[in-house]
Amino acid sequence: MTDVFADLVGQDEAVVTLRRAAASAAALLRAGAPVAARVGVPADGYDDLDALAEQFDDPGDPSGPGASGSGESACDPGASGDPGGAAAAEAAPGAGMTHAWIFTGPPGSGRSVAARAFAAALQCVHGTGCGRCPGCHTTLAGTHADVRLVVPEGLSISVGEMRALVLRAASTPSGGRWQIVIIEDADRLTEAAGNALLKAIEEPPPRTVFLLCAPSTHPDDVSVTIRSRCRVVPLRQPPAGAVAEVLVRRDGVAPDVAQWAAAAAQGHVGRARRLARDPEARQRREAVLAVPRRLTGVGAAFDAASALIEAAEAEAAVSVAEADEAERAALQTALGAGGTGRGAAGAMRGAAGQLKDLERRQKSRATRAQRDALDRALVDLAGFYRDALTMALRAPVAPVHTDTATTAAAGAQKWDAEGSLRRLEAVLECRAAIEANVKPRIAVEAMMLSLWRG
Ligand SMILES: [Zn+2]
Repeated sequence: MTDVFADLVGQDEAVVTLRRAAASAAALLRAGAPVAARVGVPADGYDDLDALAEQFDDPGDPSGPGASGSGESACDPGASGDPGGAAAAEAAPGAGMTHAWIFTGPPGSGRSVAARAFAAALQCVHGTGCGRCPGCHTTLAGTHADVRLVVPEGLSISVGEMRALVLRAASTPSGGRWQIVIIEDADRLTEAAGNALLKAIEEPPPRTVFLLCAPSTHPDDVSVTIRSRCRVVPLRQPPAGAVAEVLVRRDGVAPDVAQWAAAAAQGHVGRARRLARDPEARQRREAVLAVPRRLTGVGAAFDAASALIEAAEAEAAVSVAEADEAERAALQTALGAGGTGRGAAGAMRGAAGQLKDLERRQKSRATRAQRDALDRALVDLAGFYRDALTMALRAPVAPVHTDTATTAAAGAQKWDAEGSLRRLEAVLECRAAIEANVKPRIAVEAMMLSLWRG
């Protein structure tokens, strides 16, 4: 039961799709086995994963076998004497494998968990994602030679990064299975980087699979052209019960703590785990939830804004400090810091450029970390006003924050539904403003004033 999909909480439908695709992919590999040995031979129709896959499932057209509208498929699905296609179709009738996927869902729903699990299932020597073989293990551990993971550390993924990645992804898989590129936060691709990726997806190397993660398939997140080339796996916000269950089973959290953390994290699995296990995360949350009680005047509102911003900065600083230091040390070693003699001066001139480049990337990552920390705080705060609203409306739903339920009830009485809704909207507007690059301090100050005035 503990295969690679076990940690995909509350996503039964997606897991069924991915299992079927993995089985289908394994069948493709078996069917294409003789072809794989002919390294260097130009790809014909049967070499091409896409063409093979189209024989039994075209992602762009749900009408099924033989419905390929691309017109460029080199293989004829109806051709007799096609042992490869026949075997694949027989092994996975109606199930589809394709070379580009998008995992969508709200933050914490497990987009990247799903992508990694699927990658492991594709690299699994049994083709199932058993969770025990070297293919599964190395993929999940992030050390598989044919799996590249792009985690944008800054605010966006650059075109340079993407080009290098696409180039490497085109090589023959060393393990004989698939070259897999996982792009977390594909919504943070720059336009140029998106175009570089699109090119690769439009003309995929035969054994390369792209797994993209994004909040949604809205054009703001993923370009329409990329979207049209990918199959979408929608993930939903996992129910609190399922999140609590996995905290108990996998992380050994006490059931009552798990229940509380799952509810407080509002379906965000990673956040629930942090709340359950990290006392500092709990303290930060408590400080945020104390904000509504402290808003007693204009001065207090500005103080609360400062406190929230500074807490996010401090949290972010801690989270990136270790990586920053390790990178600086590694770069200095690589550059042979302190070297003298011939060539050292020239090397140092190059080094200055590289150091500057590293600092720029680290600054971008720090900004991202601050925004992420601030956003987590705003989600907690929104949960509080949502509780006040549902209480004012006497809606029969459980509160998000059980530990501040009495404060929310008092707020509901004081503000009524309308006032609670206005405050909830102020928090959501603040999130949207920061996402749209409004300076966080300005957005948070405006929000605090709205929360105070109502
Ligand atoms: Zn395995």
